[in-house]
Parts: sequence; structure tokens; C-alpha cells
Amino acid sequence: MTDLFDDALKRVRQLSDSAGIDPEVVESLMQPKAMMKAALPVRMDDGSTRYFTGYRCRFNDVLGPTKGGIRYHPQVSQAEVQALALWMTIKCALLGLPFGGGKGGVVVNPKELSPMELERLSRSYMRAMADFVGPEVDIPAPDVYTNARIMGWMMDEYEAIRRLRAPGVITGKPIPLGGSLGRDEATGRGAYLCIRQLAEKRGWQPDQTRVAVQGFGNAAYHVARLLQADGYRIVAVSDSKGGIHSEQGFDIDSLWKEKQSSRQMRAVYCEQSVCQLIEHREISNEELLALDVDLLIPAALEEVIRADNVDNVKAKTIVEVANGPIATEAEAVLDARGVTIVPDVLANAGGVSVSYFEWVQNRSGFPWDLPEVRDKLAQYMSRAFEQVWQIAETEGLSLRAAAYTAALRRISEATTAHGTREYFKGDN
Ligand code: NAD
Repeated sequence: MTDLFDDALKRVRQLSDSAGIDPEVVESLMQPKAMMKAALPVRMDDGSTRYFTGYRCRFNDVLGPTKGGIRYHPQVSQAEVQALALWMTIKCALLGLPFGGGKGGVVVNPKELSPMELERLSRSYMRAMADFVGPEVDIPAPDVYTNARIMGWMMDEYEAIRRLRAPGVITGKPIPLGGSLGRDEATGRGAYLCIRQLAEKRGWQPDQTRVAVQGFGNAAYHVARLLQADGYRIVAVSDSKGGIHSEQGFDIDSLWKEKQSSRQMRAVYCEQSVCQLIEHREISNEELLALDVDLLIPAALEEVIRADNVDNVKAKTIVEVANGPIATEAEAVLDARGVTIVPDVLANAGGVSVSYFEWVQNRSGFPWDLPEVRDKLAQYMSRAFEQVWQIAETEGLSLRAAAYTAALRRISEATTAHGTREYFKGDN
């Protein structure tokens, strides 16, 4: 795997040049504003203390407090956290949110921890980061292998340390603790809304569009279920252990129910509480990426499509629900082949958009109902999608280049409002 952060910086440099961004602005995006690394002590159930490594990065805050998820995964690294925080900077700018980009992570396999160890780890993380985050400074949220309950523990720990109520310190919380309706489905719904707009432009018929989804977590489940409801055929899904494939298509809610109860990805169809196995083929994650489908949705981890497997990819359209699933060198190959890529900074921006709504509701003390959240999300996604589409059409760019161009121009306007060399050298 290439160094994700170097790869992310290279992309920003390249796309800044073509978007005509002031070099001083580009320089401001070449390193994080602040990076925190901490040893997190956790009392384990056997009485021992283990130390986990935790990170939090505030990448760029010119547009507002930094915002971004916390990931629990054994492969978390400083480079990954910084890359994800840089992408959050681009994403928030593209969506027109008053946020900069941040991200956090803990090097841990949460599946090996008991529920009580997981709680102690989450509280330990917040104890280490309490001076680094805050409702006006940096606002975490869920990401891979973290969820609403973990956000609730972290909020509780922050409030205990500060001795005040501060629900706006974190988003993606349980609803009774100040979470927003619609946050759980927001990332998947945002991606679904993008696909709907793309389908309109391309004249796709849902029932003739075959979809493969890599991953079956929060983001993947909701996008797959919404597409299926519109008549799309979801012919493959997978989790970290492998996938299943059936040309007749899966009923996503049946798979989800089974996954929740047995923790297994099983090809079942359920009516009421009766589930039966349907005809299917077991496939690996690599085989899923190589399926001859109309739409491929990587919704798990980054760099799953790389130089060494890009030639196997047959899908004509890829919607990046995961962050960074396509390595830069693989993207060049796909671009040359005319594959349409809806980039992560647009496709998965529904999550941070509803996180923003949650933060607004927490600060105003006025909760919204679900239709209001969904309407606002649709407005934000449709505005961003149209803007990216127009830039791509008028400037002859890929959708990723167009998304970065829109975001970088917004960041540039804010950065240059403070004055750059042009101003200070006295010409203006
Ligand atoms: P999740 O923890 O709910 O689900 C992760 C899924 O990925 C699980 O199904 C897991 O089995 C699968 N997975 C893990 N390792 C895998 C592997 N090696 N191969 C195939 N599948 C694997 O996480 P999520 O919140 O759904 O996040 C998925 C992606 O979406 C991540 O890239 C995340 O950064 C991105 N994302 C999430 C949000 C959000 O709001 N949750 C927002 C924006 C982007």
C-alpha cells in the first residue's frame, strides 16, 4: 500500500494546479494544523492494563471547527488519519458546511474487546483528547467500527471532564442523548441521492442496473437498501470475511437481519421471522470487485482498487462510498478507460451533512423531525452534485477533479480573505 497521506497530498497538488489555486493556499493544505498522538490506558477484564495508540488530527480549520470520524481498526496509522482528515477538509468545503477537516483513530481490533473494555477504551480516548476537541474546535463522529453508543460514551466522558452539558462535542450520538434523526442512514442516503441524480442524467433503468456493494456496514447497508427499494438489483455484497453473489439479486433487509442476529453474511430471504437460504455463490472481496456489474460501490476501506487489480475491474461506474477506495495510479487507468467515478468527497458526504444538522440542533436546543432532516440532506446533496456536474461539463474535468476544484476554490476564498503575498507585497 502506498503512503495514503502522500497520495492524498499529490492529488491536492495536481488538482490545485489545474484549478488555478494560489500556491500559498496549496501550501496551507500540505500539512495538518495539529496532530495529537496518545497512549490510551485501558483496564482489561483480566485485570491487566493495555495501552492502545490513539490519534486525532485537526487538518485545516479555515472554514470552521474541524469535523471528522473516529475509526477503530488494527490498521489505523498516522498517515491514514491525516489522509482522512485532508479528505474531510475537501468534503466539508465542497458541501458548503462551516467546518474544516479532522479525523481520529485507535489502533485496535474492536472485535477482540468485551463491551466493557470497549467502553473503557472509548472513555480513555476522550480523556486523552478532551483538550484537543470541543464543540467550537473539533467535533468527532462515527467511522469504521465505531457507532452511536461509542459516541454517547465519549460525549459523557467529555461532559464529566468539563463539568457541563456539551452535546455538540460529538455527532452520531444515540437519539435520546441528543443525536439527530436520520444520522444513522445519512451516509448511505447521501450516496443514494447522488446515484439517483446520475441515473437521471444517464437515463438508467433501475431494474436493468446491476449493483455490487463491497462492505456491509452502516454506509453500505443503507445505500443498498434504498437502491433495492427503487428496483435496482443488488447482485453482490461482502464483509471483511468475503462475499455472496446471486444474479437474481438479494433482499437487503433479510441479509441485514441475518447479519445482526448471527454476525454472518448469509444469502437468506426472510418472510416475517422465517428465513431460507437462496441460491448463490460465495466469492472473495477481490472477486466482488471484478464482477461484470453496471455499478460498483466500494463501501469498506481505502485502496481496495490498486494498480495490481484495476485491470480486473469491469464496472462502468464506481460510486465511492468508502473513503479513498481507489488509489491514484488505479484511477488514471479507470479514467483512461472512460469509467465514471463519483468521488468519495461527494458520494459519502451525506454523513457529515447530517452531522452538521445534528450540531446545529444541539446548539439551538431545537430538534428537527425526520422529514426536515431528509429534505435538508436532499438539498445539500443535490446542490453539491449539480455544482460538481456543471464544473465537470464546462471545464472538461472528471467528477473528482471537479469536486476538488469546487472545494479548493471555496477554501482558497477563505484563506485569501486573510491576505496572501499578492496583498501584503503592496500591489493592492
Ligand atoms: P462500518 O464499521 O459500519 O462497516 C464497515 C464494513 O466494512 C463492515 O461491513 C466490515 O465487515 C467491512 N470490512 C472491513 N474490512 C473489510 C475488508 N478488508 N474487506 C471488505 N470489507 C471489509 O463502517 P461504515 O461507517 O459503514 O464505513 C464504511 C466506509 O464508509 C469507510 O470508508 C468510512 O470511512 C466511510 N464513511 C462512513 C461514514 C459514516 O457516517 N459512517 C461517513 C463517510 C464515510
